[in-house]
Amino acid sequence: MISFLPIGGGNEIGANSYYLNFNGNGIILDCGIHPQKTGLESLPNFELIKNKTVDSCLVSHAHQDHIGSLPFLVKNFPYVKIITTPQTRALAELTLHNSVSILKKEIESNEFEYYSHDEVDLLIRMIEYKEYQNEFELNSYHQQKEAKVNCTFYDAGHILGSSSILLENNGYKIFYTGDINLTPQTLQSKAVLPETEINTLILETTYGATDSESLLDWNSESMRLAVEANKILNNGGSILIPVFSLGKMQEILATIWLLMQKRKLTTVDIYTGGLGTKINLAYDYNRFVVNRVDKEFEVHSIPQKNYYDISNPEEFFKYPCIVLASSGMMIKGTASYNFAKRFLKQKDSAIFTVGYMDTKTPGYIISNSKSGDKVQPTDFDEVTEVNCVVKNFKFSAHSRREDLLSIVNRLNPDFVILTHGDEKAMDWMGSSILKKNRKIKIQTAEVGKEIKFF
Ligand SMILES: [Zn+2]
Ligand SMILES: [Zn+2]
Repeated sequence: MISFLPIGGGNEIGANSYYLNFNGNGIILDCGIHPQKTGLESLPNFELIKNKTVDSCLVSHAHQDHIGSLPFLVKNFPYVKIITTPQTRALAELTLHNSVSILKKEIESNEFEYYSHDEVDLLIRMIEYKEYQNEFELNSYHQQKEAKVNCTFYDAGHILGSSSILLENNGYKIFYTGDINLTPQTLQSKAVLPETEINTLILETTYGATDSESLLDWNSESMRLAVEANKILNNGGSILIPVFSLGKMQEILATIWLLMQKRKLTTVDIYTGGLGTKINLAYDYNRFVVNRVDKEFEVHSIPQKNYYDISNPEEFFKYPCIVLASSGMMIKGTASYNFAKRFLKQKDSAIFTVGYMDTKTPGYIISNSKSGDKVQPTDFDEVTEVNCVVKNFKFSAHSRREDLLSIVNRLNPDFVILTHGDEKAMDWMGSSILKKNRKIKIQTAEVGKEIKFF
């Protein structure tokens, strides 16, 4: 029997984690942390699988909502074998150490046992790695008969090292997309899909509720950004662009630099900093061994100043500049949140958002405001008048919804499980899949709700 049990995430973008059982072989797909929650609430519900066999955990990519709970998984299941791509392993080392420093400040409850830098070091040593399109076997410690699973990672085109995962047990094939992008970005090439039909597809639906016409391709959106940025910079203003330090920082930095090189964008100082700068190097070290739009292009050789080297953020307004700061959703306490408070007050400057914003985040509140509005980024902030220009751009590291449908078409599954999206996104995906093929069985992933395939 094969069964599927979401233990986190499911019908939201949170602590993504899915437990699969293949005739006794227990495999967890991803082990994320909810970016907006704290304490036990932010983790997958490990209680749901405490009496089940847990043999291995496959990690699709190094974003927090897919990897952030690995240290807690190891505390609960010390013998679990963790496997990912070499690039995700390298990025995990950077991001998990970074989380130790950030989360330690946030979590101060007694019921919650935190993890240390030493534990992260041990965890990274435990992680095995496999290259893309290199099939490997997963066996169960407890169960031998009919439990062998063949597994292959495919480049998911989302960020460095990201993978979709093909699993096969006795001829039954399951494909988990992870976070997937079927169109190229500035650095990252598009996803590679397996050349096979499958039985069950576990599909992400991030942009299921977003009209594809509002998602321009990367190049057209870059040109739109250049036009708007020139208006600000040529008028003496500066621009803050909040970015995730993993993926968006590297892609937007490269995009801006190439626009400057082509003389489409006024050349000004670019500020970066924090974890993102370290990740730039990981992108460069790996450029010849992964798919890339241009393998020669190096992110770290783009001239950039470190925002932690300046003593006062007022310096950003002395001369026009562009500041790329994490976090992407301007979460309280991060560099982009602190800088945003200064930028909001500056009449000639601007905040440009470039990606997805979760509701209730300061990023969501600010991106939905305009000059003259009064905003309160968090309950702890005072109400501030928006003096700066606010513009929103969509540089997507996820597939458009039509592209998601094309995955269903190509892999021709009998069963689709929808994940990683809100209710609206899943509704659109579900009904659109059924419009094309009435025979496909569709279910939305829900934490605690087990699905049995046969
Ligand atoms: Zn992701
Ligand atoms: Zn995700």
